[in-house]
Amino acid sequence: MPNLAQHCSRQLAALDAQQLQRHLRGPVDGLVSFADNDYLDLARDARVVAAGQASLVEYGAGAMASRLVTGNHPLYAPLEAKLAALKKTQAALVFGSGYLANLGIISALVGPGDVVFADKLAHACMLDGVQLSGAKLIRFAHNDMAHLSELLKKNRGQFRHALIATEHVFSMDGDMAPLAEIAALAYAHASWTLVDDAHGLGVVTPEPAEIDVWMGTLSKAAGGYGGYACAAQEVIDMLINRARSVVFSTGLPPAVCASALAALGIMEAEPARGTRALQHARRVTQALGLPPAQSAILPIILGTPEAALKASEQLRACGVLAIAIRPPTVPPGTARLRLAFHAGHSDAQVDRLIAALKTIL
Ligand SMILES: *Cc1c(COP(=O)(O)O)cnc(C)c1O
Repeated sequence: MPNLAQHCSRQLAALDAQQLQRHLRGPVDGLVSFADNDYLDLARDARVVAAGQASLVEYGAGAMASRLVTGNHPLYAPLEAKLAALKKTQAALVFGSGYLANLGIISALVGPGDVVFADKLAHACMLDGVQLSGAKLIRFAHNDMAHLSELLKKNRGQFRHALIATEHVFSMDGDMAPLAEIAALAYAHASWTLVDDAHGLGVVTPEPAEIDVWMGTLSKAAGGYGGYACAAQEVIDMLINRARSVVFSTGLPPAVCASALAALGIMEAEPARGTRALQHARRVTQALGLPPAQSAILPIILGTPEAALKASEQLRACGVLAIAIRPPTVPPGTARLRLAFHAGHSDAQVDRLIAALKTIL
């Protein structure tokens, strides 16, 4: 048997041979970034930073315990009230991150003998949540309602409870789930619904649909860190009792909640920020002759990891930061550049991106 370091070295060499090894890099200066998820430019907003600073001084650096012990500091209540209001639900619960939220929500609501129907492109943390729950996972083709309907007809009867899980705006494709159709199928087949709004919040408003649980993150358009669930009071009470990532994990630092609260306030007061991010994306799709962008995310699909890496390097030479996204984050054969637009991008910066993209496409 190889020792552990040898084992890891061989595994990494195999990844490297397929151009799939990943590295942590430092922040990139001097390039215009179309790579991060700070869609509304709130991560460095002076008001968001000041709210965190004041809270850091008042409450200290950490929550000091799980929320169920003594970590439920006073900033959770207003933050959860704000999230529930934004999502128009009775109640909300904040988690340590979006990843932890999906892990906790899914494993609290379903278990062995239950089934989760998940979109083929649903985020890894939803799939990990299903694994943790012990429920059966059945995946439907991306946004394919005929396929979901067929799978429900064939399989729903064999399980006790069923949950349909999808994203509102898909993280690597920027397209949107047909939420009203999903809700109608859920109703017809006695199933519950969970929608991950990590990339919609603050940028695109969901179409009206009866969704049981909305989840999302405070790390993208809200510029900070943390995850959340919004649902009926009873569902939230169940999560407080059963979501393992809440029960067995320390609460978020108070300053993180204070910054999130400030960011959500700005998001609500200044809706033009989201509109502007979306307009930038649409200007690029129009310039490239692509279908209009539906969100602030635009994939430029290139196929192989090599092609995506090369395009990323070429854009870098033009002063533009766009990250190559490779399997397993996206399906094999669909390596891509994932472009994300911000409210704070200038028209000139978007023009520079368009010019750079024209040289590689
Ligand atoms: C980023 C993301 C998450 C995880 O959120 P974090 O707060 O970063 O842990 C969950 N779902 C989707 C769709 C995401 O894009």
